[in-house]
Amino acid sequence: MTSAEAQDRIRQLRAEVSRHDELYYRRARPEITDFEYDRMRRELADLERDFPAEALAAGEESPTRRIGDDRAQGFVRARHASAMTTLENTYDEAEMREFDARLVRLIGREPLEYTIEPKIDGASISLIYEQGKLVRAITRGDGEEGDDVTANVRTIRSLPHRLHAAEGGAPVPEFVEIRGEIYLRFEEFNRINEEQDELGVERYANPRNLAAGTLKLLDAAVVAERRLEVVLYGLGACRPANVVSSQVDWHRAVRGWGLPGLAAVARARGIEDVLAAIRVLDAERAGFPFATDGAVVKLNDFAQQREAGFRGEGERARKLSPRWACAYKFAPERAEARLLSITLQVGRTGVLTPVAELEPVQLAGTTVARATLHNADEIARKDIREGDVVWVEKAGEVIPAVIGVNLARRGPSCVPYAFPTQCPACGTAVVRQEGEVAMRCPNPSCPVQVRRRVQHFASKACVDIEGLGEAMAETLAGRGWVRTVPDVYRLRREDLLGLGKNVEKSTDKLLAAIEASKGSELWRFIHGLGIPHVGAAAAKDLAARFRSLEALAGASLGEFIDAKGNSLILGIGETMARAIVGFFATAEHRALVEGLREVGVAPMAPAERVVTGTALAGCTFVLTGTLPALTREEATALIEAAGGKVSGSVSKKTSYVLAGEEAGSKLDKARTLGVPVIDEAGFRALLAGSAPAGGS
Ligand code: ZN
Repeated sequence: MTSAEAQDRIRQLRAEVSRHDELYYRRARPEITDFEYDRMRRELADLERDFPAEALAAGEESPTRRIGDDRAQGFVRARHASAMTTLENTYDEAEMREFDARLVRLIGREPLEYTIEPKIDGASISLIYEQGKLVRAITRGDGEEGDDVTANVRTIRSLPHRLHAAEGGAPVPEFVEIRGEIYLRFEEFNRINEEQDELGVERYANPRNLAAGTLKLLDAAVVAERRLEVVLYGLGACRPANVVSSQVDWHRAVRGWGLPGLAAVARARGIEDVLAAIRVLDAERAGFPFATDGAVVKLNDFAQQREAGFRGEGERARKLSPRWACAYKFAPERAEARLLSITLQVGRTGVLTPVAELEPVQLAGTTVARATLHNADEIARKDIREGDVVWVEKAGEVIPAVIGVNLARRGPSCVPYAFPTQCPACGTAVVRQEGEVAMRCPNPSCPVQVRRRVQHFASKACVDIEGLGEAMAETLAGRGWVRTVPDVYRLRREDLLGLGKNVEKSTDKLLAAIEASKGSELWRFIHGLGIPHVGAAAAKDLAARFRSLEALAGASLGEFIDAKGNSLILGIGETMARAIVGFFATAEHRALVEGLREVGVAPMAPAERVVTGTALAGCTFVLTGTLPALTREEATALIEAAGGKVSGSVSKKTSYVLAGEEAGSKLDKARTLGVPVIDEAGFRALLAGSAPAGGS
């Protein structure tokens, strides 16, 4: 390679790597696989090392000299007490041996002891606990400063907000930064992607992107709907500093304080044993319920870690990556397969998802014959054609995906794929709504849509009608007996008996199950209606608030959110609120509620909200502005738990206006009407049963 060629290539790679950093870190929408990205970044780093003069001539700035920046609009920035670095990575055992040899030279001892941890593929997070209390959660950002995502992280159910010292374990430090990874289990990843399909929006490429994207949502209520998980394994700043002295003790301390830590951390002396432990991990990880893309190898002894130090330390006063740790990444499982044809799958809301029908191929221990193609844009961008030889990738339980075309094997007769103009199920012309990536069949009577809606309604997660699975739903929709969900309750025994011989017993069983489902819990019906964004957890929150399908269907946007978009119902954010109101705005969906009532469905409303106090009985509150400690949902929950009510607008009947910073016109109105205005401290005093200062 000539000097000019090297300089050109460096420029080109810097631009490419920067572009993919942006897609990966900020938008959580990568266009290439991690493997391709790592290869590109490695090529750049090698060129910069071998052609230092050319690298300098190409400019000072290089993505290899900084950490991929995840900071996004809409979040408050927060500084890390100690820099949050990334790990050097490799796919090569020989490089792992070099990593060890360098450390042996540096520390002057052999063999060195290492820990081997599974590398969980998620989004990095730093949690700060002060006096044992969770005070802040910050993303990696640029390593020095990240986004404050505390509200979102607090929705993680497995994360304790308070640390407890275990008997005989490490004491809880005064201040500690605990680093880890936010991730999603495969099961949840697949559930959310199916929902994305139904909403007609882009699927997430992998659990990592979904976790990172979720962490950056501005609506904590939507975050709470997605079951994020967290695993903690790293130590940042700590006061007092000497809580533990090794990686192994640190893992033990983390778990001892009640935090979700790494369960099985291997320990090995010398690099050959490390490599053996990595191979064991590679064999075991197929059974993990979450994505792992490698093994992280760290020096066990903290004193040795300090001796080894960081790359970038000193020269630029910015730490880039530790010399005492390295990630060994497993190359993804990938296979080539012939794409026989592209078929369309019709979803319950009419979304048409293209599916690759493949010549069966062995991949990650299973036979793969179908893979998702996401949407029409994706097919066009990758120029995937019927008859092509494509690369298929599969990670864990994630649905296999076509990641690209082997153009060298494209035949001359391959023509660009044209997305069908008609629904394969009913022949209706397909449409594409503005702002959506998906094509849809707009016909609500489309038999496949009907079948899927009925199947969803009858599923275990909804009203749970035994005997009404996919096959039966298909029959009922196909015969035209069921066109809408209420039709399930209008099925006639004599029709069902015509389905075959000896079906009397199963028919009666099915009819009994259908009849029994009429009294299911209200949230099951709400979930079963298939309102966009509304999963089981949100359905429960809605059931508790509205107590009937009619009340929910008739609710206005103002009952969910105030004029500024703040949520008035715990667990229901603006996106969901708009989806619910939009859903019931159509006559067809209102008819569902009416139809269910007509057929005698009597949903069981949840037990009355447990009112733990009566301090606020009969009081109506209006919230305005930002309170110092409480979110609006929290304040609402406290008011309701104490027997009070929350209203969206100020009137003479309002008992108190609870005002925070930047309170708006409601505050003026309260003053005009002479309604008492209290702050958070006054509110807490009220809750405690004493009269607030300033209240009357
Ligand atoms: Zn159709």
